[in-house]
Amino acid sequence: MTGKTRCVAIIGHPVFHSLSPQMHQAAFDALGLDYCYIPFDIFPKDLEQAVLSLKLLGFRGFNVTVPHKEKMVPLMDRLSPEASIIGAVNTVLIHKGKLSGFNTDGPGFIESLKKEWGFFPKNRKIVLLGAGGAARAVATQLCFEKVKSIGIVNRSPSRRLILKEQLNQYFPEIEILTFSNQETGLKTFIHHSDLLINATSLGLHAGDPSPCPSDYFYRGLRVYDLIYNPPLTPFLKKAKIKGCRILNGSGMLVYQGALAFKIWTGKMPSVSLMAKAIQL
Ligand code: NDP
Repeated sequence: MTGKTRCVAIIGHPVFHSLSPQMHQAAFDALGLDYCYIPFDIFPKDLEQAVLSLKLLGFRGFNVTVPHKEKMVPLMDRLSPEASIIGAVNTVLIHKGKLSGFNTDGPGFIESLKKEWGFFPKNRKIVLLGAGGAARAVATQLCFEKVKSIGIVNRSPSRRLILKEQLNQYFPEIEILTFSNQETGLKTFIHHSDLLINATSLGLHAGDPSPCPSDYFYRGLRVYDLIYNPPLTPFLKKAKIKGCRILNGSGMLVYQGALAFKIWTGKMPSVSLMAKAIQL
């Protein structure tokens, strides 16, 4: 490190499990960029002070992870259209003392679909399981990509209806439907869809069941699980047995990181190198 080294950070609580430091540092080093990436565990009560401190210390920017993404919104001077609609920030650029908030989770997901599958969402029918933060980011970006329709399936009715209303407000031309987990019509809807996404947290923990039954899958359906650890969730296992094409969330993780990297440095890093750095 020198006096010219530029610093970026990740703030979260906890943050020890984050793969971002090794992923970004490997990419900075590979491109010969004099940058340093530092994780900071920030308690929710200290968030505002921590953000001010990063600004004062001359950081170039930072990533934001659970539980701070939504709380970042009022702290920003500017918001990207995605971050504004989603209501959450995962990447901040600090330029001339101003904080610009972005959300690269949704764009990272779309990049993963395009680069790993050659799948372009325009005019497609998509089924999204979940209506939490990650689902909101994915659904918003699918709408920016001009999908034909999205079926939102979520356990708690209020959350799926709020997401539908938000999407209707910003993207009135896109058909948004909502379903409960066991609703009649859901199986038929999935059988006429191009892509089924799990954006619930079911599958993260050992013993979790699949968020949907096996008969929802059909041969050739594309099935994407946002979860990357474990790499093969019960959801993806069932889909694979049924002859679906499957992907886990490791591509989304790496692409959201690559897009953040580009925001700070202006350069696109090697995504394969970033993936290798975190051994996915
Ligand atoms: P949230 O806590 O915001 O949302 C969780 C979602 O899971 C909600 O829709 C919730 O439904 C649903 N859910 C939780 N438990 C159950 C259950 N027992 N049965 C049915 N539904 C359930 O989490 P996030 O949106 O932030 O994250 C969701 C997943 O996405 C996580 O697994 C996370 O690891 C992954 N993720 C991956 C990323 C990547 O880069 N690959 C990036 C971001 C997230 P309800 O509303 O009813 O509570």
